[in-house]
Amino acid sequence: MIFEGLAEKLQNTLQGLRGKGTLSEKDVDAAMREVKLALLEADVNYKVVKDFVKRVKERSIGEEVLKSLTPGQQVIKIVNDELKELMGGVQSKLNISSKPPTVILMSGLQGAGKTTTTGKLAYNLKQQGKNPMLVACDVYRPAAVKQLEILADKVGAKFYSEENNNNPVQIATNAVAEAKTLGFDIVIIDTAGRLHIDEELMDELKNIKSSVKPHEILLVVDAMTGQDAVNIVKTFDEALGIDGVILSKLDGDTRGGAALSIRAVTDKAIKFSATGEKIGDLEPFYPDRMANRILG
Ligand code: GDP
Repeated sequence: MIFEGLAEKLQNTLQGLRGKGTLSEKDVDAAMREVKLALLEADVNYKVVKDFVKRVKERSIGEEVLKSLTPGQQVIKIVNDELKELMGGVQSKLNISSKPPTVILMSGLQGAGKTTTTGKLAYNLKQQGKNPMLVACDVYRPAAVKQLEILADKVGAKFYSEENNNNPVQIATNAVAEAKTLGFDIVIIDTAGRLHIDEELMDELKNIKSSVKPHEILLVVDAMTGQDAVNIVKTFDEALGIDGVILSKLDGDTRGGAALSIRAVTDKAIKFSATGEKIGDLEPFYPDRMANRILG
């Protein structure tokens, strides 16, 4: 599970502070050196780690902390607060349009989990009483279209595809018009992925974006790729402009570097995380709960 190693190391380090009746600046310094190493080992971005440790240190050596009756616990609370802030502080919600349908554009590299996540997101929205339509715009891979159809079936969501049309912009535009006519309140557009970011992929996404004007552009990235995931978020945001990130495969990521770095490096919120292959394995991303997982 995520943060395995990090949780153990931070808890051990901070446990040592908890027991002390008085704390000196030197004690804090020593603990922060350990915290820094643990975060780097968890594959957190170097600059993020440096800033994090600096902030925690500054707050921790304040007089009211060191002179308090429970200085160790205060430092632990500061670390917890700052971890939460690193991941955005509060949970970031989807932009739901006041005028339905809300159009959500899914993007991501091939294999990141985009199509699976599209199904999971539809399921999540259905649970909230929404009525989503899933649109297959991956015109290059018939298997991806079929995969989405199966997922839509499973979720009980409307499925939209155009078999003989290889123009994803047209398909997306037609789908949104159809959703309007039929009264679906959410349209989730699954797009083609590529193995690597290339201009063609970005152009296609940009064209879909300018035609259907999505309320929410989500990027699915694989948590297990660590700092690569952070770079992918940066690149997609610069080229396309995204509203949020879905972090997939958290179940296979023991380190957690992507989860802890994405917001701080790119300023893009992680809105959901996926923790398995099943349709129900998607949850809103709560920075406070994630921080609590680290510090126990
Ligand atoms: P796409 O190419 O981005 O559309 O990727 P897919 O949705 O086809 O997913 C690629 C593979 O990753 C599939 O085998 C999925 O079952 C798997 N997958 C997707 N999300 C998760 C997840 O959160 N956890 C795990 N363990 N596997 C996942």
